[in-house]
Amino acid sequence: MALVLGVTFVALSSDAEGRVNLIDTGAVSIERETTRGASFHGVSAYEEQGLFVVAGNVNRPKTTPGLVGGHVDVTVINPDGKVLDKIVTQYTPKVLLRESHSGSKFSASFASIPPKGSRVKVSIHSGKH
Ligand SMILES: [Zn+2]
Repeated sequence: MALVLGVTFVALSSDAEGRVNLIDTGAVSIERETTRGASFHGVSAYEEQGLFVVAGNVNRPKTTPGLVGGHVDVTVINPDGKVLDKIVTQYTPKVLLRESHSGSKFSASFASIPPKGSRVKVSIHSGKH
């Protein structure tokens, strides 16, 4: 039992690529905002080489007609509710395929690690900035 727990701890702390999963450690939480029939899945937030990285997939449900254009807004909000940083990033491929199981991928890299208790909001947005 002790061995199993030890292995689990290592896996959560840092994977083979040197990433520290900040959701698993409880440092940050993810808030998904779904719009126009597209949804997120597999969103992760981790520390890698001093950067704070948010990455995941965007999918379109089978029942939703075509969604053309759009991007992902990634907003970091500290425990006091103040916006610390925001990155606008494209997902690829640009067209969300219904047939695709993995969906389109996106990622955003921030220069600093947010304080413990921060929230990361990911939104699918098709307007201009
Ligand atoms: Zn936007």
